[in-house]
Amino acid sequence: MAADDWILVLDQGTTSTRALVFDGAGRRRAAAARPLRQIYPRPGWVEHDPEEIWRAAAGCMREAFEACGADGRRVAAVGIANQRETTLLWDRRTGAPLANAIVWQDRRAAAECARLADAGHGETVARLSGLVLDPYFSATKLRRLLDERAAGRDPATLAFGTVDSFLLWRLTAGRVHATDATNAARTMLFDIRRLEWSEELLALFGVPRPVLPEVRPTAGAFGVCGAGVFGRALPVTAMAGDQHAALVGQGCLAPGAMKCTYGTGAFAMAHMGAAAPVSRRRLLATLAWRLESEAAYALEGAIFNAGSVVQWLRDGLGVLRCAAESAALAARADPESAVTMVPAFTGLGAPHWDAGARGAIFGLTRGAGPAELARAALDSVCFQTADLVAAMRADGAAPESLRIDGGMARNRWFAQRLADILALPVARAGETEATALGAALLARLGAGLADGLALPGGWRPAERLTPRLDAPAREAALARWADAVARTRSGGGGADTGFQSGSHRRRSGTA
Ligand code: ADP
Repeated sequence: MAADDWILVLDQGTTSTRALVFDGAGRRRAAAARPLRQIYPRPGWVEHDPEEIWRAAAGCMREAFEACGADGRRVAAVGIANQRETTLLWDRRTGAPLANAIVWQDRRAAAECARLADAGHGETVARLSGLVLDPYFSATKLRRLLDERAAGRDPATLAFGTVDSFLLWRLTAGRVHATDATNAARTMLFDIRRLEWSEELLALFGVPRPVLPEVRPTAGAFGVCGAGVFGRALPVTAMAGDQHAALVGQGCLAPGAMKCTYGTGAFAMAHMGAAAPVSRRRLLATLAWRLESEAAYALEGAIFNAGSVVQWLRDGLGVLRCAAESAALAARADPESAVTMVPAFTGLGAPHWDAGARGAIFGLTRGAGPAELARAALDSVCFQTADLVAAMRADGAAPESLRIDGGMARNRWFAQRLADILALPVARAGETEATALGAALLARLGAGLADGLALPGGWRPAERLTPRLDAPAREAALARWADAVARTRSGGGGADTGFQSGSHRRRSGTA
């Protein structure tokens, strides 16, 4: 009889909630998913309904568990991966949320962040949290909720949490108020070196300590999910932010390993070893994971528009019937065409940091058509990745290859072009749900079913793509991109619609 070593993973993402069951070898055995409603109360504001998140989470977990049939008894533990930074505040006595969750994309605290940056607090925030002072992170979202929903209340009656904490609270029927270090590292309240809440940051953002969850290692005992949820009591043995879980699921377990997840946007993360990196290129320094025995650090950079560029070709321009068609179309593009697209729909992220930039297409000739546009769109995601990889290298990362996952990673033309533009081997993940797989591996470790984070049998890509573009052609393509980016820059000012508020650009002198 096989060991009881299956893991039920809850992957709570921005647009959907999923539950997946992995067996001891890391194979997917069952899955369930529900979409999540996006609430846009005002331009730039994004909210989620906490009760909807909870109902979807419990419902998906039950469904995935039941889909295992008799094998459900093999499930030994639960792991959670989640959208990061999204901020909730609830009443400790009733468990009722005081407001909708403020989603990571929400920009409502931009003015507050700009004010703090102008007052010179950006350096402190970067030094302690590894982050850029920006409304993207939880701290200023929490401050808003405290001011607007809990004024005058005793902080001891309130509980703050990111989505992991909220789900754990509900799964344990209010017995456990905890988070893991990777999620804490995205609140802008956590000292990533000392691995504890930072008094200095709590004071800066005006956050009372009693509202905070306890911070625990990423893998270990988080509490017991009661039998009320799906008929069996199971321990929760891992929680991690989604990109951190994907790093594990992609087998990036040692310095030099780097992954990029290509969904709507794209998130690149490079494992940097046991010491927290300091970025001079305005990348984010973050925890890869924190175990009882060790902490590992990573550098992170985000591309705002990746799969969304393909979506725009499909839904905005109507030149594609489906996203997958972009591969065949790009392959047909005139090799001499110099059509270059800068998809700065919502500004440009690292390392350009230009919230006011807007998209542009250069190099149009009368012969340009859907094929050239499709190539330029896929190229733009490769070029943005090249900019991130260059910044990471300048910050000390030494990637030997790039492991890719997410919806766009299915596009073979894109994967080969990425290898060509980066001049790095690219490995496409065998398990496209790298985030969920990583949470399963963390939960195995946390449950004592494994003694490390490696996939049993080792991590194997579905495919490896080696660079085959010659250096002059590659350099010419990168120069064409650099020129297009330079012509797209806002030249300072600009609306606050991107990752970073205008004042940071002024401060860093890069606008
Ligand atoms: P998310 O988790 O952000 O919703 P997914 O990982 O599910 O994203 O990926 C969906 C995105 O990937 C969409 O933006 C879609 O346009 C893009 N995508 C999916 N398949 C392909 C493909 N074959 N080629 C290019 N882009 C694709």
